[in-house]
Amino acid sequence: MAKKHILVVPGDGIGQEVTAVGKKVLDRIAAKYNHEFTYDEALIGHVAIEATGNPLPDETLEKMKNSDAVLFGAVGHPKYDNDPTAKVRPEQGLLKMRKELGLYANLRPIKLFDELLSASSIKPEILKGSDILFFRELTGDIYFGEKGRKNNGDTAYDVAEYSRYEVQRIGRKAFEAARTRNKKLVSVDKANVLESSRLWREEIQKLALEYLDVEVEYQFVDATAMILIKDPKRFDVVVTANLFGDILTDEASQIAGSMGMLASASIGDGTGVYEPIHGSAHDITGMGLANPMASVLSAALLLDISFGLKEESNAVINAVDQVLKKGFRTKDIADANTPKDMILGTDAIGEEILKMI
Ligand code: NAD
Repeated sequence: MAKKHILVVPGDGIGQEVTAVGKKVLDRIAAKYNHEFTYDEALIGHVAIEATGNPLPDETLEKMKNSDAVLFGAVGHPKYDNDPTAKVRPEQGLLKMRKELGLYANLRPIKLFDELLSASSIKPEILKGSDILFFRELTGDIYFGEKGRKNNGDTAYDVAEYSRYEVQRIGRKAFEAARTRNKKLVSVDKANVLESSRLWREEIQKLALEYLDVEVEYQFVDATAMILIKDPKRFDVVVTANLFGDILTDEASQIAGSMGMLASASIGDGTGVYEPIHGSAHDITGMGLANPMASVLSAALLLDISFGLKEESNAVINAVDQVLKKGFRTKDIADANTPKDMILGTDAIGEEILKMI
């Protein structure tokens, strides 16, 4: 029996709706497998700014540090999207959380459920069997380097910076994961032009000597962007820097058909954070239309990675698969052939998943 404390941080918009389903799934797993999960809840993003003036209140950060895992929703509000000059912004909460918790690796499994082959804009015969695990570095690169303006503000710069240590620690996680899968790792950089990429490649090459059982391929990011669409089955584990990973993982999300299906884990040396890759989706907030499967699959990642409960994690993934096999869909993954009565809202499809567990 596992005894764990989980912090639920729904955040903004549909984050609230989908995380509620993710939490119910964790509860069902605890009941079925005889574990004891306790929960607390905390604020982040726009809701936290409204309540405290701070997108990541100290209280939230403290609770995160003191929990065994965090089930996270999303942050964001149209108010800030249309006002790039706003000084206090929801996404500052997200970046601060990653920095403070030392979440240096973002894992995104890209796996297509067979039932959704037709929901992707890529041809089914190219997609079928694709199964990629991305490792995106999360706390370095151009997002965190020096930035500013010069020449009276007419020139702007952002510095991309990596230390050997930062590359080694994420590289090692990626090699370890490759070992448990098909033992193939693609390291993505732009070493033909960027110095930070040359250091990245040097460090991965050094690590490769420790993992001789893993086959390593080095790709330039432009080539990876192309191969992902042309031949996604060629990838097993992919490791890359923050900026390249940000772009490539969104591209790869289209392999899975919908943003509403993709989960992610952000891990470091302390508490792990598990969240859908989608945002707060204000266009559908409060309408009961949000697909909760990304949050449910995030809960599955939480069980596996933070708690080591592989069987329980697989039970959740299996339940999602079964619900899709039965023909149930949310609107975002339905197509012209889906009967109207099989298109369910957030809570109703959540109930189907719970039944399957
Ligand atoms: P989004 O992911 O919120 O939505 C993109 C599109 O996908 C929308 O049409 C939305 O309705 C749809 N969609 C997303 N998730 C869905 C789900 N679970 N079910 C059904 N449909 C879904 O991205 P956006 O519209 O570019 O951004 C909206 C807000 O979210 C912005 O404020 C942005 O800054 C924020 N955002 C936050 C995160 C995060 O918290 N990690 C990530 C991306 C965007």
